[in-house]
Amino acid sequence: MILILASNTDTQGAAYRQLTAFLASLEGINTRVHTERGTEKTLTEIYLIGNTNALDINDMMALPCVENVVRVSEEYRVLGRHQDDPRPSHFEYKGVRFGQDTLNVFAGLCAVGDQEHVETMLKALRDNGQVCTRMGAYKPRTSPYAFQGHGKKCLPYVFDLAGKYGMKVIAMEITHESHLEEIREALQQTGSPTGVMLQIGTRNTQNFELLKIVGRQQEFPVLLKRGFGITLDESLNAAEYLASEGNRNVVFGLRGMKTNMGDPHRNFVDFAHVPVVKRLTRMPVCIDPSHSVGTRSAAPDGILDVMHITAQGVMAGANMVLVDFHPAPAKALVDGPQALLLKELPYFLEDVQIAREAYLKRVALQQKFAST
Ligand code: PEP
Ligand code: MN
Repeated sequence: MILILASNTDTQGAAYRQLTAFLASLEGINTRVHTERGTEKTLTEIYLIGNTNALDINDMMALPCVENVVRVSEEYRVLGRHQDDPRPSHFEYKGVRFGQDTLNVFAGLCAVGDQEHVETMLKALRDNGQVCTRMGAYKPRTSPYAFQGHGKKCLPYVFDLAGKYGMKVIAMEITHESHLEEIREALQQTGSPTGVMLQIGTRNTQNFELLKIVGRQQEFPVLLKRGFGITLDESLNAAEYLASEGNRNVVFGLRGMKTNMGDPHRNFVDFAHVPVVKRLTRMPVCIDPSHSVGTRSAAPDGILDVMHITAQGVMAGANMVLVDFHPAPAKALVDGPQALLLKELPYFLEDVQIAREAYLKRVALQQKFAST
């Protein structure tokens, strides 16, 4: 059960003390307090953990400071979408809204290569009206001999250039807790010209210790990729690890499943799960067409498979698109064969717009049908 307190509740005040004293007297119930500090208001929620079946919702509503009470199911307590759940399905970061109702494109480099390519990429994004991008610095690779990413040495110039070209958020994978500190330091050193969304890749979806550490900080939002060989439920529980530790600014990423059934694509595309994740949880849902398809193959209609499946995901209501571009894919240090060409960026963005408009029309059609 979640007690949602009135905004800006004074947690030092008498009413709050009265509330916590009462909760402490409930046998077999433990509490966990979650505080979300926004620019204008602070929201406090108290999670009651234990056997809450005997508690009456109306009695709990009558407690001091309590504005709303939600009875949660066992699944995904913090991030789940529960019955009569008034909690939002969006968050804001660096002035960008991430919600189940918005769409943000994160086009960029799978891995940062040379500085000139980073600048070319960022300039093109700015010129095409983009404020978000992806830039990989720490790369988990199948072979220990493959390029592992430029790591912390590229961070200062990536952040500086991102600021120069108006990028508000960069999605960047981390594979170890030390990367969090390196990102923090580089942001500090450069005067925080941009924001970072930490990406937990598919190889680390169930790295529970990493999830706990990333979950304990609220400075950076997190993009958690679905595990490529585990169930959706297992991946959603991984997202819940982040939230249960305190960070609920989580975007859930679909990136395809590892099975030969998906051949000749690199992974079997799982974007049919976009509406499923939105139904089960309040997380915005990201799709990663590049790592799902993994090639630049095109259908007989001339449209690349990457673009076809992006459209499918967006038309099903996806909220974020993570896609690889490169100014010279042949020179890319990682994932060159799946990267779209930089000159395809405006074409890609226009195609995404067509799919988004189709999605919004489909929602309007549903509403018209429901009201008849
Ligand atoms: C990536 O986004 O570059 C990446 C490695 O993705 P995934 O973890 O989904 O394989
Ligand atoms: Mn990649």
